[in-house]
Amino acid sequence: MTVLLDGKKYSAKVKDNLKQEVTRLKEVGLQPCLVVILVGEDPASQVYVRNKKKAAEFIGIKTIDHTLPKTTTQQQVLELVEKYNQDPSIHGILVQLPLPKHISEEKVTRAISPLKDVDGFHPLNMGHLFMNEPYSLPCTPRGIMELMKEYKIDVVGKNVVIVGRSNIVGRPMAALMLNDDATVTITHSKTKNLKEITKQADILIVAIGKALLITADYVKKGVVVIDVGMNRLASGKLVGDVDFDAVKEVADYITPVPGGVGPMTIAMLMKQTVEFAKESVK
Ligand code: NDP
Repeated sequence: MTVLLDGKKYSAKVKDNLKQEVTRLKEVGLQPCLVVILVGEDPASQVYVRNKKKAAEFIGIKTIDHTLPKTTTQQQVLELVEKYNQDPSIHGILVQLPLPKHISEEKVTRAISPLKDVDGFHPLNMGHLFMNEPYSLPCTPRGIMELMKEYKIDVVGKNVVIVGRSNIVGRPMAALMLNDDATVTITHSKTKNLKEITKQADILIVAIGKALLITADYVKKGVVVIDVGMNRLASGKLVGDVDFDAVKEVADYITPVPGGVGPMTIAMLMKQTVEFAKESVK
């Protein structure tokens, strides 16, 4: 029987626990606070930001929102970030990506204090992660690790194949798996014979952004499949990078899209904000 890795259900549990924790923190005078900066009118970003704010509100994390016009200059964004870097009542700063083309994502990401970098994208935090001394972790890979732990999927010595090498998913995912003693292969658009490599995977993590690319002939029987992809078909349906209906017949464990990795990402963002708040009074 294939087991569905239910990120929606588990993330609800994580958020319930965080809500209780935040209630306790508030009783001792600590109000976790997250700044959310959105520049422009990208519809997908608006949805992500709305979902993040909804989760924060449920948990009791205070959010300070800046929804800025797409004409905002890079300097204005950097100044805003710096203002909150200096404000001790702020524990996390999130600048929703992508940014309009005239603003450098690199510059903005690097401007956020590593101590308030809730997304875990700052090169210092990325370096700490690769040295197995993590402080802040990118939320999607962290969510995947936590979801697998919840389902008692052991990664030690397993062949983990990651498809995609982005800074926000593929690369940090590889580091986390390596830190937890998996044997890791990273593949990408230049990889030759992808199918031959993915078929070796005990655990296959797919983050490419190509609807339904991974079909049943990319996997071996009994595999664990984690589908990070979120793609909107012309019909409006949201699907992953994995052909769920076909692959679930072969896999032992699989994440659905939606309801798998996505909700875990948001839950980890909240968790990290609460962790930073606690860290700020140590
Ligand atoms: P990027 O576009 O930054 O990276 C995609 C990666 O996939 C690249 O490394 C690229 O290779 C590789 N790739 C593209 N085509 C192929 C192919 N045919 N075969 C093998 N590798 C390929 O994407 P992201 O990592 O940001 O996101 C990936 C997907 O995950 C998207 O659908 C995104 O929406 C989703 N996502 C979901 C999240 C969630 O919370 N559920 C969070 C973040 C992302 P190369 O480097 O050679 O170009």
